[in-house]
Amino acid sequence: MTLALAAVDVDAAMDTLRSEVRAFIAEAVSAGRFVPDCDSWLAGWAPAFSAELAARGWIGMAIPREYGGSGRGSLERYVVIEELLAAGAPVAAHWIADRQIAPALLRYGTEQQKQAYLPKIASARAFFALGMSEADAGSDLAAIRTKATKVEGGWRLNGAKLWTSGGHHAHAMVVLARTCPVDAQARHSGMSQFIVDLRASEVTINPILLMSGEHHFNEVVFEDALVSDDAVLGTIGDGWKQVTAELAYERSGPERLLSTFPLLTAMFRRLEAAADASEAELAALGALLSRARSLREISMSIASALQRGEAPDVAAAVAKDLGTRFEQDVVDTALRILDGVCADPSSSDELERLLSRAALHSPGFTLRGGTNEILRGVVARGLGLR
Ligand SMILES: Cc1cc2nc3c(=O)[nH]c(=O)nc-3n(C[C@H](O)[C@H](O)[C@H](O)COP(=O)(O)OP(=O)(O)OC[C@H]3O[C@@H](n4cnc5c(N)ncnc54)[C@H](O)[C@@H]3O)c2cc1C
Repeated sequence: MTLALAAVDVDAAMDTLRSEVRAFIAEAVSAGRFVPDCDSWLAGWAPAFSAELAARGWIGMAIPREYGGSGRGSLERYVVIEELLAAGAPVAAHWIADRQIAPALLRYGTEQQKQAYLPKIASARAFFALGMSEADAGSDLAAIRTKATKVEGGWRLNGAKLWTSGGHHAHAMVVLARTCPVDAQARHSGMSQFIVDLRASEVTINPILLMSGEHHFNEVVFEDALVSDDAVLGTIGDGWKQVTAELAYERSGPERLLSTFPLLTAMFRRLEAAADASEAELAALGALLSRARSLREISMSIASALQRGEAPDVAAAVAKDLGTRFEQDVVDTALRILDGVCADPSSSDELERLLSRAALHSPGFTLRGGTNEILRGVVARGLGLR
């Protein structure tokens, strides 16, 4: 039994790149520079590893050369991130910046913002957090209460963001704030985006621990934080339009199906080594693998659409709904067929450690980036059913 998923190639030109990434990963693992883990794109914050990737030109691959990127495009970026995710490499530090802040800056940023941030993103010197959700404003983002008020030379920001991944490590955050009071007839109008320095003294970052005890989330509080006019991202009042355009990047990538892939490959290895694997167990893993392969086709076709400049938000919603349920099914299958294996985060047994991380993180897979119920609403609207 061999694991074929990660070997499906886009085309011959990508083969060389894929081989380079695999060789790099194999060397990094054997040298102990990272230990493969599940959900590594959210939990594996490792700036030194990000810097290694940047030095190889593997961050900012879709950023043009004039702004410090390698300008290789979304499909080559896909190959690199797919290999890193499949291997459970720690890519969280640069993830949000590379995935969606760079495209947003390229699309909406001023020349000054592009020059200020894009080279730093590509060289893993600027890490970003996402400031969208708030208490009582997760699925219903239009309910945000964080407010930016116009003052001489800029804006005063007041409010609090919730569930901010990596906010305690990141340098900056793109914050969605109300710049006009809510208009009941047009609730999604009157919001704007700002690039906010998270090290500013008027910003307080309060940790929120996961049930595993990990510090991943935060509450980020702004108390009269002064944000200059130069830090407005895009157009005042267009925040909703800009955020929804970013969501296709946020929802369709391989991270929405590969969060538990290291567990899947570890299960394969365990069953391969076991002389007594049953037909039912092998069939369960085979079914997961074939699903992964189909999901990968969907995700890659969206990457191609993004590269062509399209806005595949409905397809991205479908990809995330199907992909995150697949990730959870990997965990459920592991718990079922590895009955007796203990999910222990400190275990020296690879499978137990991976299962522990995956099981503890799995409830969040179908919530983060928009819950599956909300995504189905996006699909229904896209199909003209609402
Ligand atoms: C691991 C993780 C990381 C995250 N990182 C970030 C981050 O970095 N930045 C950030 O801004 N946010 C982040 N979030 C927040 C995330 O985007 C929200 O949790 C999500 O949008 C849901 O919002 P909520 O938690 O307020 O739940 P709610 O909106 O209160 O929803 C609760 C439940 O009700 C359901 N529901 C709500 N409205 C409807 C409806 N109209 N129809 C049907 N069902 C509905 C939902 O599907 C859900 O099951 C993160 C979340 C997780 C789990």
